[in-house]
Amino acid sequence: QFSYLYDDQISHFRAGGRVPLGLKNKRLRVLVTGGAGFVGSHLVDRLIARGDSVIVVDNFFTGRKENLVQHFTSHRLELIRHDVVEPILLEVDQIYHLACPASPVHYKYNPTNVMGTLNMLGLAKRVGARFLLTSTSEVYGDPLEHPQTETYWGNVNPIGVRSCYDEGKRTAETLTMDYHRGLNLEVRIARIFNTYGPRMCTDDGRVVSNFVAQALRKEPLTVYGDGKQTRSFQYVSDLVEGLMRLMEGEHVGPFNLGNPGEFTMLELAKVVQDTIDPNAKIEFRPNTEDDPHKRKPDISRAKELLGWEPTVSLRDGLPRMVSDFRQRIFGDEKETVG
Ligand code: NAD
Ligand code: UDP
Ligand code: UDP
Repeated sequence: QFSYLYDDQISHFRAGGRVPLGLKNKRLRVLVTGGAGFVGSHLVDRLIARGDSVIVVDNFFTGRKENLVQHFTSHRLELIRHDVVEPILLEVDQIYHLACPASPVHYKYNPTNVMGTLNMLGLAKRVGARFLLTSTSEVYGDPLEHPQTETYWGNVNPIGVRSCYDEGKRTAETLTMDYHRGLNLEVRIARIFNTYGPRMCTDDGRVVSNFVAQALRKEPLTVYGDGKQTRSFQYVSDLVEGLMRLMEGEHVGPFNLGNPGEFTMLELAKVVQDTIDPNAKIEFRPNTEDDPHKRKPDISRAKELLGWEPTVSLRDGLPRMVSDFRQRIFGDEKETVG
């Protein structure tokens, strides 16, 4: 029953401890749901580099095996094709729950946020694992407070086109806190702000991936609305560092994890032009319904309690995803043509 644990962890468990103490320097068995996706695969890289054994559960809805191919020869990775909406039995020490159709073009498709989170909480309860939920800045909706602190309750339309994502994550937070309070489960909640980097889907409709792919293909950058709405863009390695500090730390959260550098979509387009193609054109399109006007994290809490803050600016981070996008876009197109 304890086969996956190391001796000191076994004695800790036998003495009635739930999650092994001193996690930092121990080898753990970690479940990453959604680990074949953009953020998840970068997290898996770090966990495996640290020496953990990682189980990835993913239904490949938006994730890709290619994101994890570098670990296929490693005995530390186990990859399971499974939809978290269905129950699953596994034995693990920690659960990073990322599985979720996370982009506007995908997220209306299924009830992952509620059913998937419930199943992973049930699993965490059964094995006494520590559970980390990746929630989102979308829980603040179209915020009436700026920048957003974790104490702000949000301004969300319950029946809009984005609601299944926003309200799904809000429900996931509620479930997580209920399991924490009612069953004493160890939980952590991260509210992630817009994140970009290598391995993002090239076609999931998010603004950074759209602009980068468009600039590379010599297509106009599609700015929705007047382009004056703002977002704050975080490079993926900063996020992964924040998620791991949160998991290992002693605080439940929620914690905003994001880069406070705030840009309008027109300013973002300018950074993309400067980075890829100064001649890239801009084309205005109608905006989507319920689009939040501005978004910027207040990260004081994460700074103080996790000792965390982002280190990569948009101008430094963007070039790091361009070569990955170039290779995937032109590689894929060559394959299609051939
Ligand atoms: P992603 O789409 O690249 O990754 C999500 C992964 O979950 C994919 O591999 C997908 O195949 C998998 N998945 C989806 N539904 C599943 C299901 N029912 N069962 C099993 N696997 C399933 O997206 P991402 O950007 O890496 O997002 C990861 C997490 O971070 C998500 O929970 C998302 O809501 C959250 N988040 C991301 C951002 C961002 O800007 N990237 C912002 C806020 C929150
Ligand atoms: N669950 C799971 N794996 C486990 C334990 C539970 O997928 O190892 C699922 C279980 O099928 C249920 C959900 O998690 O749908 C919640 O489980 P819990 O035990 O908290 O609730 P209950 O089954 O008592 O309603
Ligand atoms: N957006 C845009 N052009 C695009 C895609 C998105 O101007 O090609 C805008 C979108 O209207 C929103 C912002 O960029 O105001 C961020 O959109 P995204 O879907 O990336 O993230 P989210 O809305 O979830 O923050």
